[in-house]
Amino acid sequence: MVARGLVVGTAGNVSVREGDTIAVSPSGVDYASLTPAMVGLHALDGTALDAPLRPTSELALHVLLHTRDGARDGEVVLHTHAAASTALSTVVDEVPLTHYYAAFFGGAVRVAPYATFGTPELAVHVLAAMAGRTAALMANHGAVLVAPAVEGALDRAGYLEYVCDVALRALGTGLPPRTLDDAEIARVARALGTHGQPR
Ligand code: 13P
Ligand code: ZN
Repeated sequence: MVARGLVVGTAGNVSVREGDTIAVSPSGVDYASLTPAMVGLHALDGTALDAPLRPTSELALHVLLHTRDGARDGEVVLHTHAAASTALSTVVDEVPLTHYYAAFFGGAVRVAPYATFGTPELAVHVLAAMAGRTAALMANHGAVLVAPAVEGALDRAGYLEYVCDVALRALGTGLPPRTLDDAEIARVARALGTHGQPR
């Protein structure tokens, strides 16, 4: 996340669920000094099982997303403060469908209403904004996404930031952007399912 410019300083956090355990990043630790031993293991209700440091202040958000309807084993929850996503979160309620990559996230990404970082209110807002989606923006704060596995999770975060950057630039012209419709996003989602090399 640091190398891709998706976070600044100690911003952002990440978790992965395996079975009944969620591994979460600790709060306020510089990424360069983060080691595997600092990663806390928590039960699905957030209770610490083996956590040497205080967990991310967004633990409630990670717990809610890993236990949401349709949550799958191995999923990653990734929260960034990426600049285009954050800027866009201050001017729209939903990311306009200016790029077909919206299909990666189940459609138009919604902006969850603002609440102070680390609060249960914020976690609830984000969960609601994620209905039928795998990403949401957090108003005046950042972005969050769910990825199927550790592999590819960072790429997903890059796609989300790209989609937001494109929308932000298009809106910045002051001209009304041409957008895609839901039927096209559904078509793209099917096409992406078989895109690239066969597995
Ligand atoms: P933590 O360092 O506590 O994870 O907080 C970073 C953040 O992005 C809060 O929203
Ligand atoms: Zn944050």
